[in-house]
Amino acid sequence: MPTYEYRCERCGHRFEAFQSITAEPLSECPECGGKVQRLISSGAGFIFKGSGFYTTDYRSEGYKKAEKAEKEASTDKSEKKEKTKKKTETQSKPK
Ligand SMILES: [Zn+2]
Repeated sequence: MPTYEYRCERCGHRFEAFQSITAEPLSECPECGGKVQRLISSGAGFIFKGSGFYTTDYRSEGYKKAEKAEKEASTDKSEKKEKTKKKTETQSKPK
């Protein structure tokens, strides 16, 4: 069951809700009753996984790259990228 993130347009209150895909999106803020907007953040990963099925050759290099890109995208970009770069440099050194 996906987690949806909402943000209230009136008071700015942000909250997450576990909902089934078929459930109707929430429309009221639990804090003030204002109109809420569903954010894309957690939904983006879900959409990406869906598109993964489109690639039939899942063992291809393209899939591995996509998987790596997904991991990088799901973590803090600048900090993680720096760490990954250093790690790669260490691994490339011949023993
Ligand atoms: Zn509110």
